Amino acid sequence: MDRFVYLDNSATTKISDRVFKAMVPYLTEHYGNPSSIYSIGREARSAIEEARGKVAAAFNARPEEIYFTGCGSESDNWAIKGAARRLARMQGKKHIITTVFEHHAVLHTCKALEKEGFEVTYVPVDKLGFVNPADIEAAIRPDTAIVSVMYANNEIGAIQPIAEIGKICRAHKVLFHTDAVQAVGNVRIDVQEQNIDLLSLSAHKIHGPKGVGALYVRRGVYLDNFIDGGAQESGKRAGTENLASIVGLGEAIAETYENFDQKVAKMTALRNKLMDGLLQIPCTRLNGGRENRLCTNVNISFGGIEGEGLLLLLDMNGVAGSSGSACTSGSLDPSHVLLSIGLEHGIAHGSLRLSLGADTTEEDIDYTLSVVPRVVERLRAMSPVWQEWSDDERAGKNL
Ligand SMILES: *Cc1c(COP(=O)(O)O)cnc(C)c1O
Repeated sequence: MDRFVYLDNSATTKISDRVFKAMVPYLTEHYGNPSSIYSIGREARSAIEEARGKVAAAFNARPEEIYFTGCGSESDNWAIKGAARRLARMQGKKHIITTVFEHHAVLHTCKALEKEGFEVTYVPVDKLGFVNPADIEAAIRPDTAIVSVMYANNEIGAIQPIAEIGKICRAHKVLFHTDAVQAVGNVRIDVQEQNIDLLSLSAHKIHGPKGVGALYVRRGVYLDNFIDGGAQESGKRAGTENLASIVGLGEAIAETYENFDQKVAKMTALRNKLMDGLLQIPCTRLNGGRENRLCTNVNISFGGIEGEGLLLLLDMNGVAGSSGSACTSGSLDPSHVLLSIGLEHGIAHGSLRLSLGADTTEEDIDYTLSVVPRVVERLRAMSPVWQEWSDDERAGKNL
């Protein structure tokens, strides 16, 4: 295979050269324990605090409001479990509000809390994948502890009205958490302006290393500890820090917000070229809307084919993407996100998500646009479903 185009940046990204270079010294010469008081320990401590400052600066937070974690999933777990359990114990609040199309790190956390006796309201989304802030407000009860709404959806790229939801939560004195794993680096975030109390992020989605994330916790918001033990992370998340990875996260977040407007404009143009090019193929539909869509995300359903077959053929042609069914994760159910916006099972199964990174080039897009139509045509020629549709149906089929 002479060409490889990676368009699965919502699953993970390639670490940037700059991030990698920043990390290496902390895997080699600067190996001190950040809790030690001799010089190599102090060096490690100051590197961590520098990274904390960079993360905080990216969304107008204070360094002491940033806690390093093991991943985005951990940040989501800690935010919701830590707040819900504490507020249940101290104020008898046992109600949680979230949406139907969150990442599993949020949904499964809520399911786990239901088993502990919490009640969860799963607010629906509209056909383009947007939460209506009025639905959130209507779901708030006197015993609501926390609202958790993702900043941008990982499958269809829909950027949610976070500032409006934040305002509502503040007015009702309910904590507001957002899973911003997909939004960080692609959207400007301001936790003050948007009234965000808790925010999750992950380094490996922004050209940083895997296995490190962060949780923003607004000053004055208290969570149960996530790991009891030593004094690391103010004693709330014990364990010797993942030094090199934390340095990598700091560097990745700083890099992703440099030349930000230029980067987003470039990526948006490439995304539109890819999206519009793929929509030229007959019997396709765009999942999610054109407005308020991440500059990284394209998600399209192709009538009459299976996403898994599409992925395999794309892979053979050197294009890496992701499908709208969760077969790869051991389940035959189509994605809960695509079902939440009203897709039928068959259509959801024929979906393709292509996600751009900061390193995606115009050549990558051109190559992909030369491959996908051929592959779709080939699969349709073999597809019994496609054969069943009459020519008229195919011509007029509006997926
Ligand atoms: C990837 C992702 C996560 C999980 O982050 P990890 O660091 O892989 O645990 C959580 N939420 C969203 C929206 C994601 O895209």
